[in-house]
Amino acid sequence: MNDSSNIAYVSISEWNKKVMRFIWISTGLVIFIEVLLFVFFQPVPECSKREYWEIFVLRPSILMVLEAACMELTFRCLGKILGEQVITVVFLMMQFVLLGTVVAVHSSVPYMCMVLTYPVIFANVYREKYFRYVAFVMAILVYAAINYGIIPSTEFKPDNSKEVYLVIFVGFIMVAFSFSKVLTSVVVNFEKENQKIHQEKEEILEISQRDSMTGLYNHKIFYDRLNDQLQKCDKDYPLSLIIIDIDNFKRINDTFGHATGDNVILKIVSLIQNNIDETDIAARYGGEEFGLILVGKGEMEAYNLAERIRREVEQVTVEGVTGKITISLGMTEIQPQDKNSILLFKEVDAALYEAKQTGKNKTVCRGWKKGSNNDYTYRHFSSREEKPMS
Ligand code: GH3
Ligand code: MG
Ligand code: MG
Repeated sequence: MNDSSNIAYVSISEWNKKVMRFIWISTGLVIFIEVLLFVFFQPVPECSKREYWEIFVLRPSILMVLEAACMELTFRCLGKILGEQVITVVFLMMQFVLLGTVVAVHSSVPYMCMVLTYPVIFANVYREKYFRYVAFVMAILVYAAINYGIIPSTEFKPDNSKEVYLVIFVGFIMVAFSFSKVLTSVVVNFEKENQKIHQEKEEILEISQRDSMTGLYNHKIFYDRLNDQLQKCDKDYPLSLIIIDIDNFKRINDTFGHATGDNVILKIVSLIQNNIDETDIAARYGGEEFGLILVGKGEMEAYNLAERIRREVEQVTVEGVTGKITISLGMTEIQPQDKNSILLFKEVDAALYEAKQTGKNKTVCRGWKKGSNNDYTYRHFSSREEKPMS
């Protein structure tokens, strides 16, 4: 829908409406300038004040208003019947008829033909190339027709003074000013539209990364984030990985119902979120399994956090659930050489499996850890044992 290399995002009818509004504004401006020039006109033997009024104010103004009204009517009445493409070509032609009138009336002003450039520039905003070519050809044809007398120009050509030229030029600039405002509105709208699309894209991206029930990152993003973090891990950037599985969850579902089971998941998720930092990454790894990547936290800090979560879960009460809700946790401190997230998961999974096999409601920590003397020791401890030495 959006082509960023082309600002011409507006629909044909939207743009035609903007141009129509511009035509009414500039018609008003032109009539205003004509009246101003009339006020300052000094009668000459070839042209009285009354004749000037008729030639330069009354006739062209009526003609312009009629032409603009005709355009508006054509738009409103035939727009739907003719279809956007045809009506736009008709619209472009009518613009040239209107501007041709302005040029023909003011054939004494040499640069007046420049007004024919307006529709050419306007036509460039349409996505359809051929509108530009139609406008281009029409501009040349109309000018040629006036030049060769096919479209009759005004019989009386006043000998314009410097002041008259100045007033006409000011009129030109005023029209160009409102003209540029119309063009700018397209750019501004485009900008707004672009921002909206960007925002929506971000929102969709965010939604696609999250689990809809808990709002945590989903399985895929968890692996992506883990792989990103593994690249950063070094001795000054400790990392730990924890996976959490709710104990006997099938029984909770079977005994208290699926909806109550959902509430248990939500309660535990909110408890986890309250315990981790903003920099930590939490994901719903599976149905009732959660993964945590603890950024900047080594083994002890991660273990303490795991234990805090485990103990707090023991205290959790959920409406409709009788008995204790518990979780089991498997964890490891990630080492700088751990670049394979699958292998790492195997280790943590083994720790979780052990926690389940040895009584549940337990944290098990496993994995190699580099000591200060660069030796590796295999770390293996759990909640029920003595607190490990750090
Ligand atoms: P264990 O202590 O060994 O973990 O036993 P368990 O019963 O918890 O076994 P398991 O971890 O395999 O249980 C997974 C169950 O979680 C199966 C599935 O029905 C349930 N589950 C998965 N996602 C949801 C969910 O979104 N809502 C509810 N209510 N239940 C879910
Ligand atoms: Mg499970
Ligand atoms: Mg379970």
